[in-house]
Amino acid sequence: MYYYFSSLYHSLIPQPLLSFLKFANKLISNFKLTRSFAGGKITLYQPINLYRKFTADYIFTGHEILPGNFVLITNPEGQVINIVDILDAGDNIQIFKGLLTPGFINAHCHLELSHLKNVIAPGFGLVNFVQQVMRNRSLVEEAKQQAMHYAEQEMYRNGIVAVGDICNTPESITVKKQSSLHWHNFIEISGFIDAAATKRLADGEDVCANYYNNNLTQTSLTPHAPYSVSKTLFAQLNQATTNQLISIHNQECSAEDELYQNKSGSFLDLYKNFGIDIDGFQPTGKTSLQSWLPYFNNKQSIISVHNTFTSNVDIDFYKSHSIATKQTESNLSLFFCVCINANKYIEQTPPPIELLRKSNCPIVIGTDSYASNWQLSVLEEIKTIQLATANSIPLTEILQWATINGARALQMDKTLGSFEKNKKPGIVLIEEMNNLTLTNRSTSSRIL
Ligand SMILES: [Zn+2]
Repeated sequence: MYYYFSSLYHSLIPQPLLSFLKFANKLISNFKLTRSFAGGKITLYQPINLYRKFTADYIFTGHEILPGNFVLITNPEGQVINIVDILDAGDNIQIFKGLLTPGFINAHCHLELSHLKNVIAPGFGLVNFVQQVMRNRSLVEEAKQQAMHYAEQEMYRNGIVAVGDICNTPESITVKKQSSLHWHNFIEISGFIDAAATKRLADGEDVCANYYNNNLTQTSLTPHAPYSVSKTLFAQLNQATTNQLISIHNQECSAEDELYQNKSGSFLDLYKNFGIDIDGFQPTGKTSLQSWLPYFNNKQSIISVHNTFTSNVDIDFYKSHSIATKQTESNLSLFFCVCINANKYIEQTPPPIELLRKSNCPIVIGTDSYASNWQLSVLEEIKTIQLATANSIPLTEILQWATINGARALQMDKTLGSFEKNKKPGIVLIEEMNNLTLTNRSTSSRIL
């Protein structure tokens, strides 16, 4: 494939200039000077490189970290052709200092809450946080759109290529239609009063239809949280989401377990403050996860978000539940999303990462929203994970959570998550590392 550069008639070019052009052609290998004898016409062509070639100190493939003697080859649009030894890669290789990784997957965000940056003070717990979010939701439309646009741009720049985004309204449609990120839109349904379930579901279906009508078809209904979805609404959502991908905020604080185990704890204050009558709520005597998970038995794939207070008993329960509903671990029906900076912001408790690892739970990473984070950056989440675990987890493993696991969780792994042939996962450069450990100064940026 050649790009037409210019066309000149042979007879119009003085001989010295022609000689010079031929000489320059030898120097600049990208230029080819061809001569059509039939028409006496000289044409200068500039070839477009069929391939782009990248190498760095390390290349993380989505599965493993390769040393610097490998080269990632893509087509001009970034579709992966191959990874080859540098000796077989030819010339025109772009060389970077640092680590190249496929684009990051942010498995949990609320773009709609981007205007709440620095609005809610950190460290006052989940019940306070929920009340603050509800009070601050309304803001002039233009400011909200602007905040969402900045948040989307920030995510693009720092290497996020896909987002699992919680939506309560159609407000983020405008930004998403112009976005070069991939989105799974989780239309969030809540309602703790049983009698309102049908209406709440219908409202959510209307929002869902709005996304579909705007060609944002990777969109599904999703429950908000165990403390905000009634028994009837859970049952209706189970029917409405057969074979679909859903997400739920799970065990973000210990009060959630107290509510389900004893109908006690600080959520009772929340309901009181909002005038929600919970007389009809029957505690199950079990933890939150053990109470909500059995509602979903229609082959849903689930991203369970936060899991801050998830215990080994809960994980055993999930495993036996998976087997009972024929959703075995092998098809990864439940992903555990950690949003460690948001946990620090709200409850100041990190998620049980070691427990999740030890139990072979598939882990993915989310930033949550600007309401509860200082930035929307998967790299910053990885830094905090490394800090919280004293650098005991190999970077390869955490990068898998941030790339291929996230792509599988969002069902986008046909195109994203790894440098495998024909995928177009985006290429991200991590700089300022100390060997294979991130430092405070480490940055990530999108290079393709
Ligand atoms: Zn959230």
